[in-house]
Amino acid sequence: MNEPRAWRVGFSPRRASALLLGSEAKASRGLKPTLHELKLVEWLRKAAGRSPQLVAGIGDDCAIYRPKSGEDVLLKSDQLIEGVHFRSDFAPGLIGERALARALSDIAAMGGEPRVCLVSLAVPRGRKEAWIKSFFRGLLRLALRTGVTLAGGDLAHADRIYCDVILIGAVPQGKALRRDRARAGDSLWVSGRLGKSWDRRIQPRLELGRRLLGCATACMDISDGLALDLHRLAKASGLAAEIDRVPLARGATLERGLYGGEDYELLFALPEGATAPPGAPRETTRIGKMTRGEPGNIRFRGRVIRPRGYDHFA
Ligand SMILES: [Mg+2]
Repeated sequence: MNEPRAWRVGFSPRRASALLLGSEAKASRGLKPTLHELKLVEWLRKAAGRSPQLVAGIGDDCAIYRPKSGEDVLLKSDQLIEGVHFRSDFAPGLIGERALARALSDIAAMGGEPRVCLVSLAVPRGRKEAWIKSFFRGLLRLALRTGVTLAGGDLAHADRIYCDVILIGAVPQGKALRRDRARAGDSLWVSGRLGKSWDRRIQPRLELGRRLLGCATACMDISDGLALDLHRLAKASGLAAEIDRVPLARGATLERGLYGGEDYELLFALPEGATAPPGAPRETTRIGKMTRGEPGNIRFRGRVIRPRGYDHFA
């Protein structure tokens, strides 16, 4: 990727790195923000939302976030890159929504409550301001629905659309759902149907995540395919796993349900004999159980399956 260039600023790309969503920080580096940038940042500042924990948001060198006592802070970073995660002709609002939804799904997987986010966005020079606003409208609509405040970020030019969302959440101290705490004999569950495609909306399972606090022994979200993600959970817990069913989305093949990515459902383990908590999505399904065996070994209907799924480095 080319060196990112400052937003609508006509100075040497060697000096330019990016535009902070805070004019003061930029002025301190001797860069003159243009009217366009200032208006865009002002528009973002107004649209950003509010959080009682956010002492200061967009407009200073850093945002100030004050965690509540008795909480652990969850930190998550998630990238969305044109040509890797989506095509350039996808609607900007959907790309923005998805960028945040993916990170929200990880906060849900820990049983957390999302609080504030930082969004870095780089776009090619040809992209109009309207595209950027649509991107942020999509992202901020979901932010509003899920109680997330935009605390800052970074805007830049690049040779393709690139977005990085940093999401900060919180969970009662010591209570976060982790993937390394499953026990042999635990039942395995999935919150919805698998094998969905990119153009479906992600429903981050935030409420279910919170309901699983104190009852699930392990949890993670399925982003790279059931086979690969279950392998990760089993390996982290030092166990093997057996599954006998895969709840499939309409039109999805078993291949896609097992090995496709982008599902963003929760995969969780419950103590033997326990049922899904009240309020869990209707489609929550028991798919198998954790067993003793070679850590990370997964069997589907008695047959060992390879932990393949989406792998950026394969
Ligand atoms: Mg995850």
